[in-house]
Order: sequence, then C-alpha cells, then structure tokens
Amino acid sequence: MKLKDKVLIIEDEQSISNFISTILGANGYDTIAAGSGEEALSMISSHCPDLIILDLGLPDMDGLDILQEVRSWSNLPIIVVSARTHEHDKVKALDLGADDYIEKPFGTSELLARIRTAIRHTRTPLTNGGIAQSGKLSIGALTIDYDKHHVLMNGTDVHLTLNEFKIVALLGKYAGKVLTYDYMIREIWGPKAKADNQILRVNMANIRRKIEKNPAAPEYIFTEIGVGYRMRDEDE
Ligand code: CA
Repeated sequence: MKLKDKVLIIEDEQSISNFISTILGANGYDTIAAGSGEEALSMISSHCPDLIILDLGLPDMDGLDILQEVRSWSNLPIIVVSARTHEHDKVKALDLGADDYIEKPFGTSELLARIRTAIRHTRTPLTNGGIAQSGKLSIGALTIDYDKHHVLMNGTDVHLTLNEFKIVALLGKYAGKVLTYDYMIREIWGPKAKADNQILRVNMANIRRKIEKNPAAPEYIFTEIGVGYRMRDEDE
C-alpha cells in the first residue's frame, strides 16, 4: 500500500480548515490541523508533515514568522494560502522561502494541483533534465552537494530552500556560462512555467544573502543585466 502524504493545515478559521481537510482527505492525503502558530510549530516537529498549508493571519503570530522559523532548519514544502493580496505580501512570503502562494478564495482543483506540484518538486528535485547531476562541485568557498541537495559555504550548510537550491544547482552545472532567465525558469519549473522573472529575482536575492559576503558585489553568481545569471567558473 502506498504511504499517504501528510499535510499540516495551519489555519485558525475552523470552517476553512475543515474544508481543506475534507478536500485533501477525499484526494488521498492524511491531514492534521493546527489553529495557532504555537500549536503549528510543535506539530511540525512532532508529526513531520510532508507539506504545510499556511494561513498568514493567525491569532498568536504572523504566518510569515512561522515560515521563517521553519525555513531556518527545513526545506519542507510550504504553500501559503492567504487573503492578503498585496504584491509585497506575496513577494515577502516567497522571499522567506514559501514554495507557492494561493490567494483566498481559491478553487479546489487549483489547491490540489499546487500541492501535487510542491510535493513532486520535493521528491524529484533534480531529475528534470537540466539540473540532473551528482557528486560535488566546489568553486572557491562554495560547495554544491548534488546528492544531498545542500549548498555549503566554508563547509557549513547555508540552508537553501528547494527552489534556491535548484537555481544554484543549475547555474553550477553550467558554471562559467550565462543562462538566460527564460531558460532557467523552464529548466527549474518546467516547460509550461510562466516566464516570471520576479520569482527568479526574489530567489536570487535570497541566495545571495546566504552565500555572498557582500550581496551587492557578488563573487559567485553574477547578473548579466537583461539576459540572465552566470556562476563563476571553477578556475575564474
Ligand atoms: Ca486566519
């Protein structure tokens, strides 16, 4: 029997929580639910969910704080479901490492599709053509461990999110070459992905904060303005 994926629903509105739980239950997922941030954080460590659905407006804390906390130690897929529709909330959530962002109200099939995508990306992060690679690559103090999906600076894991790792992994595979935004988006998010450079830029800003001494004057990943990105060659 196939093991079911376990989804943690973090949502304080009982009716919405029940609604999501019913949909997921009917579609082959196990669900657990938390109604507050504190409860959510303890359930994440005790129940090891496969995916989190996160509401931003919780009674005791901001969902973005939960996102930040979880991202400090885990690449667990997190889908933010929120009534906040401002562009900056969306960017902030993606910036902090959310895998996806769905605005309320949302459709059942949309939610299910986003969950499938997020889980699939975790399970098979590097099997899509461009990124598939094994072993390790070292450039200066930076090491990409393709088997463990980690990026290390001076031997210390910098805790990239899955999307951030895919970007670094892809650039590393073609170190020294300029990869265009469109090419990267297709390789990382699939041929049908919308060419949205904003998501790439947000992820890149995050990556640079984690791997560059001075993100404004990068030593590892360079921006080729209007074209794309290039990772430094091994002997550059
Ligand atoms: Ca709420």
